[in-house]
Amino acid sequence: VPELPEVETVARQLAPRIVGRAVERLVILDPLLRAGRTPRLAGRRVVGVSRSGKRVLIEFAPVPRGRGGLWLAVHLRMTGRLLWVTGAARPVLPHLRARFELRGGSLLFVDTRRFGTFDWHVDRRAARPAGLDPLAPELSARRLSELLAGSRQNVKAWLLRQDRLVGLGNIYASEILHAAGISPLRSACSLEAGEIARLHRSIRRILRDAIRSCGTTFSDFQDARGIEGSYQRFLAVYDRAGEGCPRCRGKIDRLVQQQRSTFYCPGCQG
Ligand SMILES: [Zn+2]
Repeated sequence: VPELPEVETVARQLAPRIVGRAVERLVILDPLLRAGRTPRLAGRRVVGVSRSGKRVLIEFAPVPRGRGGLWLAVHLRMTGRLLWVTGAARPVLPHLRARFELRGGSLLFVDTRRFGTFDWHVDRRAARPAGLDPLAPELSARRLSELLAGSRQNVKAWLLRQDRLVGLGNIYASEILHAAGISPLRSACSLEAGEIARLHRSIRRILRDAIRSCGTTFSDFQDARGIEGSYQRFLAVYDRAGEGCPRCRGKIDRLVQQQRSTFYCPGCQG
């Protein structure tokens, strides 16, 4: 499941390929993607691709002589992929749900399990997620401390909530807590100033390192070019139950929180 670094990778790799291109047609092949109203795209140009929380945000210029831009937030969910194909051929792949026919190529939305969504916005602000972006300058250690205060939830579950920080999933939440030396069982409001400072540093460092490696790849995530990220090599605890902790050599353990696996080292996350 793509988390923040994977979605950032997709946005960074798509941007130079599609920004500036005129849209000739959008073909939606899966009626599920038509749940909202799909606006007319012909005559618009792609003017930006960025990440908004865990979603890829594609910005379209106003139609000629028209007013107002248009934003499409693509949520990849479990298996969604955005693939760029150069040339005039209009490929039909298995599980193809939508095809943006652009000048010079096609942007394909392929999604085996069909959980991915399209949300159209005429206002950029409306496309913003509810939670704070963990890499945004606004997320200071102090702001993090304010967000954590008052929550009795365990800190692992807290990191997964999308209404506080957006974009973290199971892999990076485990890695961040290990890097910060904080037990996933601690309640969010029990963290002390020094621990919050370590948590803040770890969030930034782990996410930036993962982005540099183009994310982590498990069975079904590939970036916009179909290339696999390499952060998997750097994972310290995730999916490594029974192996040695890279920091203290203790044995990595797995526990289940909210029906999801948490990997941690009881030795250095006491
Ligand atoms: Zn350890």
